[in-house]
Order: sequence, then C-alpha cells, then structure tokens
Amino acid sequence: MSFESIPKILEQLQIETLYQQQPLQRLLDCWEEVVGKVIATHTQPISIEREVLWVATSGAAWAQNLTFERQKLLKKLNQILPTPLVDIRFSTARWQRTKKKPLRQQNISSAEHPSYLGNIVDRNQNIHSLPKNPHTAFADWSQTIKRRSQSLPLCPNCESPTPGGELERWGVCSICAARSF
Ligand SMILES: [Zn+2]
Repeated sequence: MSFESIPKILEQLQIETLYQQQPLQRLLDCWEEVVGKVIATHTQPISIEREVLWVATSGAAWAQNLTFERQKLLKKLNQILPTPLVDIRFSTARWQRTKKKPLRQQNISSAEHPSYLGNIVDRNQNIHSLPKNPHTAFADWSQTIKRRSQSLPLCPNCESPTPGGELERWGVCSICAARSF
C-alpha cells in the first residue's frame, strides 16, 4: 500500500459517511417546511432506521395525533427525500428537554410563583398528568398550599402558619403584630 492511497481511503470513508447521514440531514432541512412551524416546535426527527423515520415529540398527544397524520406526511416527505420512507414512528421517549431551554427557564420561574397551578403550562409534561377538570385542579392547588403552610412555624398568638421572618421580628404573625400597634 502506498502512502498516497491513505488520504484517498479516508476521503472515500468520508464520502460514505456523508452519504449515510444525508437522508436525515436532508429531512431536517425540510422538516419545518413539510410539517409547519407549530408541529416543528413539538417534534424532533431523531433517526432513519431501515426506511423508518423516528420522530421524538414533546408530548403523548402530539405523538398520537401525528401517528394518524403520518400517511400524509410520508407522501410529502417522499417527494423530497432521495430514498423513500416506509413509515414514521412518533414517540415522546427521546424528546430532548434541552432543545426548549428558554421555555424551561420560563416554566421554572412560573413554578416559583405563589399562584402557580401545577403542570398546566409545562409543555414537556405528559398530557395524562394534567388535572382532569377545574375541581381536581383546585384540589391539587389547595394540597400544595397546605403542604407549604405545614412547613411554616405557627404564630403563638393565633396559631396560623407564619413565615419565620415575621416571628423573628415581632414574635407573632404580621396580622397579630398589626393588631397590637
Ligand atoms: Zn397571629
């Protein structure tokens, strides 16, 4: 083997690798155009394995709805792709939370807000974990408030849960303190 042939082999390997990656790359380039902007934000094409496209979705409802739509999507995609796909599988399993970083940060700050009502705004959550109706949503919320107040010390005067800072300052809760002024 001559030294010259090594770069040539490497070049050939590179071309082969590129060729194998190409269908997915090509698909990623046109994905938003095919499915539309809204679906594109809730989906992430992961891989093409044996002519089956695997797509991660942000939630179970998206996976379910898109599964019903997949024949229409296949038709559109096969007009663009060099090698036709036989099927598309949608699953939440490989959804990358990191892709939605700005949204996650927003969720964290809303969860810290005192009037936060649970998982309603968390798009990464499975839809089945959402409260079923306003009644259960309220029950969840009051449970959270109850848990939160149980960890607070009690005011020695009226026995209501009181932030430690208030007890330190006045020896009673702010309401009792206001009454004594
Ligand atoms: Zn009090």
